[in-house]
Amino acid sequence: MIVVLKPHVTEEQIATVVRMVEELDYRAHVIRGVERTVVACVGDERGDHQLGHLESLAFVDRVMPVLRSFKLAAREVRPEGSRINVNGVEIGGKRITVIAGPCAVESKEQVEAAAVAVKAGGAHLLRGGAFKPRTSPYAFQGMEDEGLRLLEAAGHKAGLPIVTEIMDPHDIDLFVEHADMLQVGARNAQNFSLLRRLGRIKKPVLLKRGMSTKLEEFLMAAEYILSEGNPNVVLCERGIRTFETATRNTLDLNAVPLLKQWTHLPVIVDPSHGTGIWSLVTPMALASIAAGADGLLIEVHPDPAVARSDGPQQLKPERFTELMKLLAPVAKAVGRSL
Ligand code: PEP
Ligand code: MN
Repeated sequence: MIVVLKPHVTEEQIATVVRMVEELDYRAHVIRGVERTVVACVGDERGDHQLGHLESLAFVDRVMPVLRSFKLAAREVRPEGSRINVNGVEIGGKRITVIAGPCAVESKEQVEAAAVAVKAGGAHLLRGGAFKPRTSPYAFQGMEDEGLRLLEAAGHKAGLPIVTEIMDPHDIDLFVEHADMLQVGARNAQNFSLLRRLGRIKKPVLLKRGMSTKLEEFLMAAEYILSEGNPNVVLCERGIRTFETATRNTLDLNAVPLLKQWTHLPVIVDPSHGTGIWSLVTPMALASIAAGADGLLIEVHPDPAVARSDGPQQLKPERFTELMKLLAPVAKAVGRSL
């Protein structure tokens, strides 16, 4: 259930609602929107009729059920959509946000070259994996702690906040110290202990869709983070497994408008992993923005031919710059900017 408060309520009135909700054995999440504040009540639905009585309070507008299985992620909770602040860079506003950088941090020179190049091309955030989830235990696993520090330094040098993947909840302190946004990869999309742990920090989380995760399951994964108290979640469509093997994954662009209807959380698209083929990245990036995505995640490597992971899908810097140029008119056509 959600309790929609009337405009201009006082902090005391919000606290009153929270107390009454908690007395009914629900957890209360206060969500402050632009126009109104909503108290989302999560708990055993058998008490819902009692929550309905809150409508008699003068400062309560209405009490309404959230019928879907995801509650805090539901669009009704914040109809105007969420804007997530990543160390000064907003995701979910009018402007399209572009996260770019190499698949993996490979050396100081490589990550610095990538950072400077994507900044020059117009990226807003720098990405790079330090801890890599590889299919084979014999493949390059990332530079780990050192990679994280190199990414941080490169971001600093280029003036870009950084996004990087966390695999193990035990590493959380290290990531909170060095990264601006923590990515949960497709392989960990339903690692519930990791999700819960990320719910207990305030740093923004970039949650990727699992390769066989249905959209409802994807939003329930986000719900794990939200329900622990971290409201800063951005969703990323990165392709799913289908019978098609001509591309690495099948980029599910249906997900973009559907997720935007179902949830207030920002939705970005990763056409690099979604296709696995560099020559498909630009067309699918344009299509993603046309479909209503709030941003993109693009893998860019100074020299993809020698990349230690995902070489075939990474763009050369000049191709990234070209992508950004092509993106501007598409963004404008759908009422967005770059
Ligand atoms: C990545 O972003 O480098 C990555 C491993 O992506 P995914 O989890 O989507 O495969
Ligand atoms: Mn990759």
